[in-house]
Amino acid sequence: VSARSIVEDSIDNTAKGWVLWIGTNDGLWRYDARVDAFTRFGHDPKDPASLSSNTVTTVFRDSHGTLWIGTDQGLNRMDSTKGRFESYTENNGLLDNLVLGILEDGHDRIWLSTPKAISKLDPQTKRFINYGMKEVLPDIRFGPGCCLRSTDGEMYFGGEGGFVIFNPDSIRENLYAPPLVITGFKKFDAPVTLDSTISEKKAIELSYKDNMFSFEFIALNFTHPEENQYAYKLEGHDNDWIYCGNQQFARYINIGEGKYVFRVKGSNNDGVWNEEGTSIAVIVVPPLWKNTWAYLSYALVAGGVLLSIRRYQVNKIRARHHLEMTQLEAKTLRDVDQMKSRFFANISHEFRTPLTLILGPLEKWRTRVTQVELQQDLGMMERNAQRLLRLINQLLDLSKLEARGMKLQAAPGNIVAFVKGIAQSFQSSRGGRSVILKVEATEDEIEMYFDHDKMEKILTNLLSNAFKFTPEGGAVRVDIRNPQSEIHNRIEITIADTGIGIPSDQVEKIFDRFYQVDASQTREQEGTGIGLALTKELVELHHGTISVKSEVGKGTEFVVRLPTGKNHLKEDEIVEETTEIHERMVKVAAPEYAGKSKTGVEMADGKSPMVLVVEDNADLRAYIREYLVPTYLVIEGRDGAEGVEKAKEAIPDLIISDVMMPKMDGYELCKTLKLDEKTSHVPIILLTAKAGTENRIEGLETGADDYLTKPFDAKELLVRVKNLIELRRKLRERFKAGQVLKPGEIAVTSLDDAFLRKVMGAVEQRLSDENFSVEDLAREVAMSRSQLHRKLTALTNQSPSDFIRYMRLHRAMDLLKKNAGTVSETAYAVGFSGVSYFSKCFQEQFGVLPSAVNEKA
Ligand code: ATP
Ligand code: MG
Repeated sequence: VSARSIVEDSIDNTAKGWVLWIGTNDGLWRYDARVDAFTRFGHDPKDPASLSSNTVTTVFRDSHGTLWIGTDQGLNRMDSTKGRFESYTENNGLLDNLVLGILEDGHDRIWLSTPKAISKLDPQTKRFINYGMKEVLPDIRFGPGCCLRSTDGEMYFGGEGGFVIFNPDSIRENLYAPPLVITGFKKFDAPVTLDSTISEKKAIELSYKDNMFSFEFIALNFTHPEENQYAYKLEGHDNDWIYCGNQQFARYINIGEGKYVFRVKGSNNDGVWNEEGTSIAVIVVPPLWKNTWAYLSYALVAGGVLLSIRRYQVNKIRARHHLEMTQLEAKTLRDVDQMKSRFFANISHEFRTPLTLILGPLEKWRTRVTQVELQQDLGMMERNAQRLLRLINQLLDLSKLEARGMKLQAAPGNIVAFVKGIAQSFQSSRGGRSVILKVEATEDEIEMYFDHDKMEKILTNLLSNAFKFTPEGGAVRVDIRNPQSEIHNRIEITIADTGIGIPSDQVEKIFDRFYQVDASQTREQEGTGIGLALTKELVELHHGTISVKSEVGKGTEFVVRLPTGKNHLKEDEIVEETTEIHERMVKVAAPEYAGKSKTGVEMADGKSPMVLVVEDNADLRAYIREYLVPTYLVIEGRDGAEGVEKAKEAIPDLIISDVMMPKMDGYELCKTLKLDEKTSHVPIILLTAKAGTENRIEGLETGADDYLTKPFDAKELLVRVKNLIELRRKLRERFKAGQVLKPGEIAVTSLDDAFLRKVMGAVEQRLSDENFSVEDLAREVAMSRSQLHRKLTALTNQSPSDFIRYMRLHRAMDLLKKNAGTVSETAYAVGFSGVSYFSKCFQEQFGVLPSAVNEKA
């Protein structure tokens, strides 16, 4: 180890309290005299706070006791209490890392010599100022430790070639902050010629393609200009200043489009900075598709798109709102209409009952009185009452149509037969008048879907007009055609007459409500002008059209065109099953049926059938009773509840019931009775003012067997009563004809079926018991004797005792056929006490003697 420099450091004032610092070529050593020991401080590459190099050139203790250690790797300042070092190198502004001599001046500044220069360090600011010796004393090479500060403050630094003396206080710093000037601009390292000098420009504009450019600049300090320092920064791109030493240019690559400011600042040779420097704005212009206008147009387009979307939405919302409003309006209108039509329905109910009561007696008396004058008056009264009734019906229909309360109820049927039937009945009802009716059809059968009820109204109206407006000797022609050539299948019904015709200027108006060609009071034909209006609506409900051709004096021709098939019909407009009630109504209305008188109907026991009339209007009840009494045994009920009670008690053969009644309505009555074992077989006819098919179906669904609308023709009621009782009788006859008892064939409802099975089961069980009586049977099925009697007779036309015998004989027949025993054995087996009585009964039932069956087998 070779020591290069030694410095004494005192700790206290005792003789032994001194310390030596020794700079060597192997670090800094400390010798403590009190303990006589050395401590080494060396360079540790891992510890930045260690000595910057092991090669110590000089050690210096300043006036504050701080140790400065010069090495070949810069100056170190030692914090002797902690043993840590702070180093100053070329990076801090030192001209050369090799420190040779260290001195301190009177202002606490440290001066040092490096091989070619003298530097001054201000420990406060930690800034170096270098004084290169090249120009002044080019020959001197400073030597290690060769320095001295004299008592008058002069500094001596020596080395090879001599020494320098100077007074540090006389060396003035260059305090001049040099102005900065941008001197050049290059694109892709090639100088650019500008319209004015770059130094005068405030801004420079570049294309997005100029992605490499550079600026050149200079600080205007000419004292050692090579020692000028520079720093630059492109605002908007660089965050910090870039210190570039005395490099006089800045280069940028790939700067995106935008606005920037290029700033440069510089210092003079003494490190005095002109912080303000100079600047120039740099604008990198974006490409066309990225410039403001482009963005503006993009925004416009996007805005436009958004706007149109918005407008579309608004329009949609508006449309929906509008739709909702119209729907609401329509609903209110519909509600009002429905109210109206309900009102009409109720009113008409009120009208129809009294009308029935007027018409019934009128008809009765008209046929009974012989006095011509009275007969004429009664005839007129009847005609007018009829007319009033028709008007009410038509008004009701119209109001229903208007309120859309009327639905098409199309069912399949043969339209030809239907039209013919109505036309025929018309002719016969016309009676005396000599107007010829001709009905023609291209085919005998055209199957199509149509609403029988409504079609009847259409045809009746057109036919009644034709007959009404055709004088004696004229003709009415009905034509049904099925033009095949059409793409859409349809039929044409033509109703033509040779009547008075309609003036051509009024043809269009006849379909208007209440329009009549000759509306004067004196006109011959009666009517109100509703007929055609209703007809047209009904045809349109059928998805058809109606047209008219007419010539005054020659005649009129109405053509109704209707589509066939069912594609044009909505699902709820189709009723697959023909409610045969319509057919029957038409038939019944036809005069030949109505004309037939009341043939006596008798029950098996020779008694008249029993009919229960349930009706709350006493007049109407009396009226019906009057018609029924000659033929039937009539009992009455004043309301639904009483009706049910009476029915269960008496078990009538038929029930006629009103629908609108207090306590229990007709539907309810129907349901109750049909669900009761005792009365389930009894046919029920419902009477109502509600004329719609829907109501009829509702009635039929509850199990009613027939339906009559008020006001009804008393004769029609009689026919229906008779028919129903007849129907039951026929069923019973089939049973009596000797068929083997199979409940399924006889019973009408499943409840009756069950009842019969129960009775048969009970008899079967006791077949061999000769004492098994009717009372026993009644007890078995939980009925009174008379109830059992009536129910069983109604179903099988046999009294209970007959029924028991009947079962016995049939079993006997079975046994004999199977050859199960002798005749007498068989007789006992089926509960007969005597063989001869058995043989007699057997022969009566089957027409052969039991012995004959036995032999055959
Ligand atoms: P309503 O049918 O209500 O009893 P109406 O027969 O008078 O009364 P519409 O059937 O609507 O009413 O007919 C309107 C008018 O058209 C009739 O009044 C009549 O003047 C004229 N009209 C209708 N059919 C014929 C026809 N076949 N011949 C001549 N005129 C007719
Ligand atoms: Mg008419």
